[in-house]
Parts: sequence; structure tokens; C-alpha cells
Amino acid sequence: MRVIVLCFDGMDYRFAIKFRSLRQEEYSRIDLCGLVPSTSYIFATFLCGDSKVHGIKPTDNQKLARIPKGVKTIYHYAKKPCVLSMPSVNPHPLYWDQRIVSLMIASRTGNVKAREEYVRETLKIFNGQRRILLEAVKSDYDLILAHFNLIDALSHGLRDDRALMKYYVLLSKLVDEVKRIIDENTVLIIISDHGHEHKPYAFYSCNKRLGLRNPKITDFYKVIVDLLQEKK
Ligand SMILES: [Zn+2]
Repeated sequence: MRVIVLCFDGMDYRFAIKFRSLRQEEYSRIDLCGLVPSTSYIFATFLCGDSKVHGIKPTDNQKLARIPKGVKTIYHYAKKPCVLSMPSVNPHPLYWDQRIVSLMIASRTGNVKAREEYVRETLKIFNGQRRILLEAVKSDYDLILAHFNLIDALSHGLRDDRALMKYYVLLSKLVDEVKRIIDENTVLIIISDHGHEHKPYAFYSCNKRLGLRNPKITDFYKVIVDLLQEKK
């Protein structure tokens, strides 16, 4: 079975469930098992199925945190994996970029010009990632793991749940675009690592009924490895 995982950083369960394309066939909140909802730490835990094997700490520098070579992750089970901008593996070069972080901080203090520029920079990253993802979906990868920082970045910069909704619409449209390309033998999973401003409202959905209800962040490892090994 082919598996595509869209990792929408900061997509908040309480808001994601309002969008049909994001809810898909099956959805629920993810149990973060009491772990600190720090981006690289949670995604490394997701990729390894365990919070203790990857050595990344919640307090580590997010830009530098990497799962060490030799630690087995989900993508080691794929024949032809494609990993795009994943924190703890190969984060986008502009994640935690100093100039953009400065714009985010200025935006929070009500600087309108900084806010506009911050949104523009964040959307530029998103649009580039969108194009790369859609090319990958059209190729023959059996596993795609694609991370998008859009919601998390804007939740920190705008601090306004209502203003974020139009960016949920953008991600809904991206999900629809992916769905128009894939066939029935592709499992499309959406996950997030936490809600707005790192509140523990992580979200999960799938285009197939996997029977998961409030899965633990560590549960996806076995689920995805099993799907990859299913012969379809
Ligand atoms: Zn995050």
C-alpha cells in the first residue's frame, strides 16, 4: 500500500474538524502521551514510534535537532521514500530563520508592516512546498512524509484563531489537490504535532477507516509500517 502523510504543524484539532477535506473518513485527537509539544521532539517521536530512542530533547535547538543515523524510522521500511522538510530529519532551510523569526516577533507586537511581510514570507515557503509535494505525489514513491509549517508559523505571528481559518482553507485545498492525483490504493494520513501556540490539541485524519480512536503519537509507527508492507 502506498502511504502519504501530510504533517501540518500546529493544526489544532478543535479547528481542523470544521473542514470536511481535513476530517476525511476517520479523524480524532492525538494523545501526545504527556510529552512536551515541541515540534522536532514530537515529529521525531512520531517517526520512531518511541520518545526515547531518537535522543532529541524538547529543549534542543529545533533548527539543529536531527534523528541520529542508525535509529530506525518509518521511512526505513519504505522501498522508495520521499521525506520533505521534516523537522528532526531535513527541515526547510527557512524554518527558524533569524530574519523571519524577527518578523514574527514584530508582527506579534502589532507592527502591521512586519505582519504583512511575515505572512508573505510564510506563504512563499508554503507555495514552494506545495509545488514539490504535488510533483512527489505524481511520482512513484511508496511513502511520502511532507511537513508544512504554515499554521504553526501563523499562529505564533498572528495570535488570532479566526484569522487562521483562511489558511486552514488553503490546506484543505491542498488535500483536495492530492486526492485528485492519488488512487484507491493510497492511504492519505494528516497529522499535527500540537494545536495553536503549542496547546496539546494534535489532530489526526485518514482517507481510509483504520479503526484508530484517539491514537497515541507513538501508535502511527506500527500502523504505517504495516500499511507499507501490505501488498496492494
Ligand atoms: Zn510544531
